[in-house]
This record gives sequence, C-alpha cells and structure tokens, in this order.
Amino acid sequence: MNFKTLNDFDLNNKTVLLRVDLNVPMQDRKVADTTRIDRLKPTIDYLTKQNCKIVILSHFGRPKGKVNPDYSLSFLPPLLTKQWGVEVGFDSDSQSNITLLENVRFNPGEEENDLAYAKELAALGDIFVNDAFSAAHRAHASTEKLAHLLPCAAGLLMEAELKALTNALESPKKPVVAIVGGAKISTKLNVLNNLVQKVDYLVLGGGMANTFLFAMGYPVGQSLCEKDMAEEVKSIQQKAKAAGCEIILPSDRIAIREFKENADYEVIGLDHIADDQESVDIGPETIKNIEAMLDNAKTVLWNGPMGVFEMKPFDNGTNKVAQKVAALTKAGKLLSVAGGGDTVSALDNAGVINDFSYISTAGGAFLEWIEGKELPGVVALQKQDAKAA
Ligand code: AMP
Repeated sequence: MNFKTLNDFDLNNKTVLLRVDLNVPMQDRKVADTTRIDRLKPTIDYLTKQNCKIVILSHFGRPKGKVNPDYSLSFLPPLLTKQWGVEVGFDSDSQSNITLLENVRFNPGEEENDLAYAKELAALGDIFVNDAFSAAHRAHASTEKLAHLLPCAAGLLMEAELKALTNALESPKKPVVAIVGGAKISTKLNVLNNLVQKVDYLVLGGGMANTFLFAMGYPVGQSLCEKDMAEEVKSIQQKAKAAGCEIILPSDRIAIREFKENADYEVIGLDHIADDQESVDIGPETIKNIEAMLDNAKTVLWNGPMGVFEMKPFDNGTNKVAQKVAALTKAGKLLSVAGGGDTVSALDNAGVINDFSYISTAGGAFLEWIEGKELPGVVALQKQDAKAA
C-alpha cells in the first residue's frame, strides 16, 4: 500500500493538523476506557520530539452539525495531559503547543465533506497527519477532503493498523484462517462473501454457525438462528467452493435450557437437540479440531465470539480458541489480527488482549475493510495530489 508516513517528512517546527479518534467510551460522564487515547501516545511523542505544534481534530458523538454542549470535547484536555504526559490545551483558550480543537462535528461541513470547511481547517496547519483509522470509513472534511489540501501522512497508529490489515488480508502468509463468530450472518454477509474468496479456511462459530447448520438440515431447537437465510448460506458455500476455501462448522455444541450464567448444560452432537434447548457455545470436539487446524496456520484473522461469551462458562469456546491463537502468535508461528464489534471485549475476557499481533479498536472501519471496501480516509491518504512539505 502506497501512503506517506511521518518519516517521509521534515516535520521540524511545523504545525501538524492531527486527526484522531477521541470518540471515547463514556460511563456516568467519565471516560470508561482510555485505550484510544493511549494508542495515540507514540504519535504525540514523535511529533513533540520534532518540536511540532500539534492541532488535534476529533469527532465525539453525533451532534449532527450543531453546537451542543453535551458533545463538547472540553472535558478531555486534562485527561490527555495525564495520559500523554504533555500539556494539552483546549480550542481558543489553549496556551500550549498541543491544542485539542472543539468537536469537528459541530460544523455541518464536517459530515458533508465540505470543501470550504476543509479549507478553514487546512489554514490551521502545514501538514495533515491522519491517525484515525477508525474514522476512515467516513468521507468527512477532516478525514477525506483535508487530505487533498495539505501534504499528508499516516500517523503511527494508522500506519500500524494498515500494515497489520495488509499483512492479514492483502498479502498474507498462507494458509490463512478466518475465524468469524457473533450473532447473525445477516449483519456479516459482505464480510463472509469477501473472506471466502481470500482465505483458505473459514471457521464459523456463534449464532451464525446455527444458521449454516439449519440450512444444511440440522436441528437447532431454540438456538439463535436466521431461518430465512438458507439461500445466502448456499451462495456463500458455492463461492467458497469455487475459491478453494474450506468452511469449518462446529461438530458439537453446548446446549442449555435456561438462558443464564452457569446454567446446566449438555454437550450435544449435530443430529440431536431438544425443542426447548438452545446452543450457546462450540463444544470440546470442535475446539480440538480448530486448535489442530491452527497449528498449521500462518495467518489468522478474527471477528466475533464463538459463543455467548458474556455468560460464564459459555465463554469457554472463545477463550480456548483465542488462547491457542495467542500462544502460537507468541511462539512466532503465526500473524494474528482481530477486531470489530464485540471482538475486543471477547478477547479481553479471554486474557489475550496483548498477545495477538494486532487488535484493532476500529469497529466499523475494520469490518468495512474485511468486507473488501475501500475506505475513503485511506484512499485519500494514498493520493498525493497535494504538494509535499
Ligand atoms: P456480533 O456483534 O455479531 O459479533 O455478535 C456478538 C454477540 O453474539 C455477542 O453478544 C454474543 O453473546 C452473541 N453470540 C455469540 N454466539 C451466540 C450464540 N450461539 N447464541 C446467541 N448469541 C450468540
């Protein structure tokens, strides 16, 4: 992939417009998780060392083009200062070298990808650095248009994310195994249709495996299952066959009657499930088969849990498979990339959050990438139609 990085520019004493994603998760008006902030520290450190002035752009929530104090970013500079160890000021009050501007989505021009608004932003800096992969699936003024108006580079976080995704899906070491779980196939049809054309093995777990099993004639009892998706399942299977991708479905499952933590459960095969039972996780034989297959894999791409991981012990399938991927990654035997939706919390619950090669915190952008879509923010970075600094 052809895009410029921080190394390609002489940034000394320049003013950098840095687009980041500070749309941080909140609980009771407090930041619930600082991962997004912490992952930006390397870029902040790099630019600070180059004596740059940094003007930070971010969105926060959905104020829909209007000034709305509920979505102001004014509460964040003290936390940024604490997490990054450098003084960060806010908007027009800032006296610091690093300034966080107010929520870009207060301006209607942001989501309209408006040229006039992008020009206003461009006037504030010498170079545009985009470190917001998670916002790159939107063509907005601060993620797309701005890249055409100034010399632009990927920040260190964006660079790491693009390299990891390219290594996992565009030019991977084979065999490539995609592990896809989660609730429904209807929300992941594009993901599945793209992956079967790119990977050697597609392992399916979670609710979506029930939909496949049902379409193949197996009973599913009360399990989460999209019974009207038989045609889509057939079409994915045909595409997989034509592309030489083997789809691996569970051979056993964990069935419960009462949907609650620590419910009594039975390990059952594919042929039998009682009408009042539902399947909530993959079974021990399935786990063993997946583990054995992973021993030969060189690349693993993961989205979605293998079962109802929020309820113990039905996180077991997800945990065991995740721990196997983590162990092989640590042993240097494979490259592993995961992301999207609930995947990060499922892997956190499995205790492996630091043991994959790369875990993406970008939900929508990660999914669109594995759907094979072009991301406007990334495409714009690749177009070097603005003059080099
Ligand atoms: P997704 O956002 O599509 O990745 O789905 C994640 C959700 O799928 C989690 O909340 C899981 O509890 C749920 N899930 C996974 N496996 C099953 C299953 N067998 N039955 C019901 N829900 C499941």
